[in-house]
Amino acid sequence: MHIDRIELYLVENRFHKPWRTAYGSDPGNCAVFARMISGDKEGWSEASPLPGPNYSCEYGAGAFDVAKRFLAPSVIGRDFSSARELNAAMSHVKGNPFAKSAIEMAWWCLDADVKGKSLGALLGREKDEVDVGDGWGVYDSYDELIENIGKSLDMGYKRVKLKTMHGWDVEMLEAVRSVFPNETIHIDCNSSYTIDEIDTFKKMDRFHLAMIEQPFQNLDIYYHSKLQKQIETPLCLDETITEVWQAEQAAELGACGFINIKPARVGGLQNTLDINKICQQAGIGCWIGGMMESDVGKAICTEAAGIANMVYPHDITPSTVNYPEIITESVIEETPQRTIQCVDRVGTPIKPDLEKLKAKTLDTFVLEAE
Ligand SMILES: [Mg+2]
Repeated sequence: MHIDRIELYLVENRFHKPWRTAYGSDPGNCAVFARMISGDKEGWSEASPLPGPNYSCEYGAGAFDVAKRFLAPSVIGRDFSSARELNAAMSHVKGNPFAKSAIEMAWWCLDADVKGKSLGALLGREKDEVDVGDGWGVYDSYDELIENIGKSLDMGYKRVKLKTMHGWDVEMLEAVRSVFPNETIHIDCNSSYTIDEIDTFKKMDRFHLAMIEQPFQNLDIYYHSKLQKQIETPLCLDETITEVWQAEQAAELGACGFINIKPARVGGLQNTLDINKICQQAGIGCWIGGMMESDVGKAICTEAAGIANMVYPHDITPSTVNYPEIITESVIEETPQRTIQCVDRVGTPIKPDLEKLKAKTLDTFVLEAE
């Protein structure tokens, strides 16, 4: 499959209201959209590292720059028969998995279009719909949070994820568990604690959380393995896992019971498949996380969520939940059973509405094969 043309779009879209987490508050998102064309076939992708380098080292405008200057020129005009070949052509760039995923996931969707198949068929998806969970950030009071958790449970969500930070942890969980003693709840620390705070996590075992997500700094595996040996609650690695070898090390060190795979954070769909396979062999469960993507990215995530060893409700919500302005041709929809249907469409599961996308585009780059 010859890559004739690559288009990159740096797209800014505002959330309904700012999203507060341990690393700050974002008023909106800034993501890279890629379109890859071969003949009359095309594939679209979205990589959303968030606007600033806070969740990881990457950020929207930086990922756009890396994709434009270093990645797109490495693959344009070439033929790749597999994602591994494509990834090898981009391996001269260290790290930058979000930027790489913009190219890589567009390639998968283009490959699906060329082969006349759905993305799910290429990935080996086993389900037609996937369970999704709900999540809440940090609020001004526990009462406000508890009211929101009640709404999630009333709506039938099978699990609720709570963002956690200093001053919003053990006492917050005490308040939540006093109202919801047995519901499936887990917390996400977004890398905001240190190994010196192991006692904080020992205190959390009594809350019987489904998991504690990413307590320590991004990329750390060793301290997570030390903590996991001292608490009963399973740890979940998120920010740490950006490449396949890190999942191998985490499994070998016993650093976690779960890995939250975000296809864009791990460099795309081939690495998603490889990491998931390592986890399956090691008895580590996986689930798919979200980066506030539009439905272009979320629909790709939904296809990945349908493969084997995806064992926990995913963070995939229709973009209408995050954004007042929708920039896609169609939208994913949640069923009353709190599932999302996979898309059996040939090629890209959900494409952007080009005019709406362009209206939100800060920067564009086009590269054509000679
Ligand atoms: Mg997380």
